[in-house]
Amino acid sequence: MIVPKKKPTVDLATVRCQKCLDYGHYTYECKNKRKILIRDSRTKILNKNLTKPQSSSKDTVRSD
Ligand SMILES: [Zn+2]
Repeated sequence: MIVPKKKPTVDLATVRCQKCLDYGHYTYECKNKRKILIRDSRTKILNKNLTKPQSSSKDTVRSD
């Protein structure tokens, strides 16, 4: 079977999914779950929340 060269086919290997940042499929075709990137920012917020009450309690100890 001969494949006609006229057909403009997109090489899926060069297609990058914006959701999981993986190659080989489009974002709307993504079946993967979101990547660690989102988890990473969540951890950052957690760290921030952990740091805040710490300095606050420090203040309490100081005034005591
Ligand atoms: Zn994907």
